[in-house]
This record gives sequence, structure tokens and C-alpha cells, in this order.
Amino acid sequence: MSSIPSSTGRLVVAKFGGTSVATADQLRKVQRIVDADPARRLVVPSAPGKAHAKDTKVTDLLYLAHELAAKGQDIAPVWGQVEKRFLDIIAGLGLTLDLGPTLAEAKARIQAGGPADYAASRGEAIHGVIVAALLGATYIDAAEVVFFDRNGRLDEGRTYAAIAQRTAGSGRFVIPGFYGTSAAGEVKTFSRGGSDVTGAIVARGANAVLYENWTDVSGFLMTDPRIVPEAKPITEVTYSELRELSYMGASVLHEEAVFPVRGAGIPINIRNTNKPDDAGTMIVATRDPGHQVVVGIAGTKGFTVINVEKALMNGEVGFGRRVLDVLEHHGIPYEHTPTGIDTLSLVVSDRHLNPPGRDAKLDDVIEDIRAAVRPDSVGVSPGMALIATVGQGMVRATGTAARLFTALAKARVNVRMIDQGSSEQNIIVGVEESDLPTAIRAIYNEFA
Ligand code: ASP
Repeated sequence: MSSIPSSTGRLVVAKFGGTSVATADQLRKVQRIVDADPARRLVVPSAPGKAHAKDTKVTDLLYLAHELAAKGQDIAPVWGQVEKRFLDIIAGLGLTLDLGPTLAEAKARIQAGGPADYAASRGEAIHGVIVAALLGATYIDAAEVVFFDRNGRLDEGRTYAAIAQRTAGSGRFVIPGFYGTSAAGEVKTFSRGGSDVTGAIVARGANAVLYENWTDVSGFLMTDPRIVPEAKPITEVTYSELRELSYMGASVLHEEAVFPVRGAGIPINIRNTNKPDDAGTMIVATRDPGHQVVVGIAGTKGFTVINVEKALMNGEVGFGRRVLDVLEHHGIPYEHTPTGIDTLSLVVSDRHLNPPGRDAKLDDVIEDIRAAVRPDSVGVSPGMALIATVGQGMVRATGTAARLFTALAKARVNVRMIDQGSSEQNIIVGVEESDLPTAIRAIYNEFA
């Protein structure tokens, strides 16, 4: 058990992800990190993640147990694996903790057909008890402090008040991530990876000065290291720059984790449990761009462009709405709509045009666009990749766009679409999918 030094009033929330808490050895690192700063008084753990590449996350085992129970099958073999993970950790840490009744109760409820959210939440709920024992902290069941309203959204007022009240004063607390209580009084989870969201909510409720999110990488890199192996780490990024980057698929952090802390201006620090001396990435409200106008470059494949052309379309009231209505009717969101005087293009993700296991929608969409606006032509260009080059103020920094497009031209990349957005912090270009790595490397070399 740790000795808890007295805190100076500064309060930090430390959330540890699945790989950080996967084994007894990992948890010893967690203990050292928490002990190193007395301000780390609120700890939010995930369920044990993969201990090695071929391992299964405890949360996945729990969903599997739920599925077996729903089919009337015996969950004992899967439950045995869940128990073993916890018991190995307890033994490895040398804790004297009897989880027998807690495990038996969870097993019985899941076997009896308890809901999926209840089953999945047990990973965090039970692991929280172990982490609290290790850290000498008070355990607070997330079901007692995280509340959802009737629409399934976070009941902010009730949640923040409960967290503030239960964590007031001194002492160390462990609040498991990923779940809370629904308006009907049932256990309800966030979406997968949701312990990040709990960490942010706890930071907001307790009015922390910092939300540390400890994971297995030292923060974000400027771009995909599979394309640019020497990609530099991002030391500082704003909440909104991160949104632009995560929208393109650079996810280290659950995308909903930004919102609770953003409103209160609480920075998030992404840190590496395995390299605690690395500073990681700091996510802040504003930053001084200095020389570093571009903070990150994110690219994703899998888009199709539908080009609608009609002479004098710019004078036709309601043209854009009628085209977008077609997408809405088919339940397809769009990414961008670049326009010319007689052209309107729709950039749509293939995921939505060809939903897995369902009929492709493209032909129907084109037919409906023809019927809706009687265009001169409708063309389709599949196989497009989008690249977002993101950085606060870059659009105002003279010459940024010129540098970007010169770099692409020199690399012989044909730019098929440009969208500067109105946020003044990103330039999006569309290129052939096969050009994606070349384009990202060229932009990185220009701005890194
Ligand atoms: N254990 C949950 C999951 O695997 C939540 C989390 O780890 O953030 O999705």
C-alpha cells in the first residue's frame, strides 16, 4: 500500500488506459506515477486491456460472456478467464483482497441474462477495487457519481455536483471509468474507450487543474508514423486543432473526452505509462503558434466525389438543398461540398455509400439527384483520399497555402479537391488514394 503525501490543494485527475493497468507489473508503474505527485488524488482506471498482442481485453471477454448467456449457454469458461486476469493481478501485487463475493455476484447476474452494459461495466467496476487497494485510496463506484438523463446524455449538473461532493477535502480516490447510472437506475456505459470520457467528467466535476490521460504512447505524433517513421511528437495542440485531426482518424483519445474539460479550460496531458519521463502532448485552449504553424497532418482513404454540373445553377434557388436532400433521404452524411459557378461536388465517405452488409447506395443516389435537379451531368470519382493539414492561424500566415501546394506539385501529386474550411485552421486537399503517402510525406517535410 502507498503512503499518501499531503496535497497542496492542486488537484490532478490521472486516468490510466487498458494497457497501463493490464498486469501487476503495469500497475506497479501506475503506483509509482501516482505516488510521484501528491496532486494526483483522483485516479480513473480502465478495465485490464491486452497484456500482450494475442491477449483479449477483459471488456471483450465480458461482452462475450453476455452474448453466451443471452443464448442460454454456460459462461463458466469465459468467466474463468475474466477471474484469472483479476486474481493474477491481485497475487502479483501481493494484495490481501477477497474479491470472491464480488466476482460471484457479477457472474450470477451476467449468467442470468443481465444487460450488456452491466456485464461490460464489471471490468472497470471490479478493477477499480483492486487499484484502490493498491493505492490506498477510497473507492467510489462510478454508478454513484456519473448520471445519464432520460435521453441517454450525461446529466451534467447532477454528475458534477456528486463528484465535487464525494471527492471534497483531502485523500485519494479511485473512480472506475466507462459507466454510470441511467435515468431508469440501470448501469449504463459510454461507447467503447469511454473511460477517457469518465476521466474528463471527473476532472470537470472536481475542478482539477489538469487531466492526465496515461496510455501506451507518448502523445500524438505530427502524422502517421507508418508513412513518416521519423514523425515528431506534438508537444502542444488546441482542443479544436485536435478535433480537426481526430476527424481524420488520428485517435488516441475518445473524441467525446474533450468536451467536458474544454468548457472549463482544463488542459489534457496525454502521457505514456511506460515512459513516464516523456512530456507527452498537452491539449490546451489556445497556443502561441510561433514558428510551428502546422501542428499535424492527417489523411484518410475511402472517399467518393459526386460531381453535379448544371449551367446557371448558381441562379437556381434551392439547388443545393435539393441535392443535399437526396443524401439525407438515403441517410448519408457528407464531408465537404466544394462548389464552382456551375458545379457542386459532394465528398462522401465510402463507409456510408457502401455500408457493410447492405446494398450499395451510389446508383440510387445518382438517379435521385438526376430526378431532383435535372443536372446537365453527374460524374463520379471514386478512390479519393482526404488530407487535413491543421494548425491554428495557418490560413492567416502568409504563404502557407503556397508552401503546401508547391510541396505537393514538386512531389508530382495531383490535387483533385481543395477545401479551406472557415475555421482558419485547416486546409483539406483531396488526392488519389495511391498518392496519399507521397502527399503526406511532402507536406510533412515542408512544415515539420
Ligand atoms: N474498457 C472499455 C473498453 O474497452 C472502456 C475503456 O477502456 O476506456 O472499451
